[in-house]
Amino acid sequence: GVPALPPRPIAERRPSRRIDVGPVAVGGGAPVSVQSMTTTRTSDIGATLQQIAELTASGCQIVRVACPTQDDADALSTIARKSQIPVIADIHFQPKYVFAAIEAGCAAVRVNPGNIKQFDDKVKEIARAAKEHGTPIRIGVNAGSLDRRLLQKYGRATPEALVESALWEASLFEEHGFRDIKISVKHNDPVVMIEAYRQLAARCDYPLHLGVTEAGPAFQGTVKSAVAFGALLSEGIGDTIRVSLSAPPAEEVKVGIQILESLNLRQRRLEIVSCPSCGRAQVDVYKLADEVTAGLDGMEVPLRVAVMGCVVNGPGEAREADLGVASGNGKGQIFVKGEVIKTVPESKIVETLIEEAMKIAAQMEQDGVGA
Ligand code: SF4
Repeated sequence: GVPALPPRPIAERRPSRRIDVGPVAVGGGAPVSVQSMTTTRTSDIGATLQQIAELTASGCQIVRVACPTQDDADALSTIARKSQIPVIADIHFQPKYVFAAIEAGCAAVRVNPGNIKQFDDKVKEIARAAKEHGTPIRIGVNAGSLDRRLLQKYGRATPEALVESALWEASLFEEHGFRDIKISVKHNDPVVMIEAYRQLAARCDYPLHLGVTEAGPAFQGTVKSAVAFGALLSEGIGDTIRVSLSAPPAEEVKVGIQILESLNLRQRRLEIVSCPSCGRAQVDVYKLADEVTAGLDGMEVPLRVAVMGCVVNGPGEAREADLGVASGNGKGQIFVKGEVIKTVPESKIVETLIEEAMKIAAQMEQDGVGA
């Protein structure tokens, strides 16, 4: 077999400092990582660890947990110890939980300077504790909770306001010699968000955590995040991403991974090249594509499978892929690496494709492709 070429990245990555979130490097040229956040009560340790296990299985690399109460803070050390992936504690309002999270051994702490009272006065102590434990801090500015002072100055959460808030907080940490920082400046409007990150990227070398906040239900949130992350990542901006959806967190991870694969920022896995179907289609393309996708779910090698409805573009696409079918007249021509290997009746297309895909995948695995 021919080993796959390493994917060509979309752009040179913006040079950034590197921080270590537990074993996951963020920035400094490390691969862009995918994060999500649990939806369980953090104090419910069993449920939280269960959800973290599901997220880990879906490919999540870093997980954030909310910490609104003392019970949640008390749960952090067990969760941080038992989680398979690094845990970031998400702290709003209460500086005392920042210290609790650092002491609990969380891999990082996210603070929102806009809504932690007297945060500025606490920075010195936070910096000291974080340095002592080697805990990085994410300065997470959010349009919905921007510092009142900046809201007054700019009138609303403009890109400039978000960036000024983030850099101001970073400067307070810098005064105490603390630079293990990553920054996010989230907004629910992708246009404002993109502009904010561009400005931020130009003005500092901290690694950046991308997010469109409150992006909405799955469909809208997926599109908004893909558009915003796509724009920024194609300029080399972004070191870790979180897709926010009003949907189960494992869905966020799936979307995040797909975005990175689409931009060649991560080795692609299974890719179904299927046509939208049209008046020329001679088979039910949707059904065929769905059945092939379901049959090959979980495939980890970069396999391209073409599912085409007719002979117009069918043979061409099917030939370009590792494997494919071009349908016509109740039959399917099955292509492997550009050659028609057999023609099968429509009822046998799915099983034949899956069978052939398994053979190619086994060969790829043997050759170490996609490992
Ligand atoms: Fe239509 Fe054929 Fe193109 Fe599919 S491959 S969209 S059926 S022309």
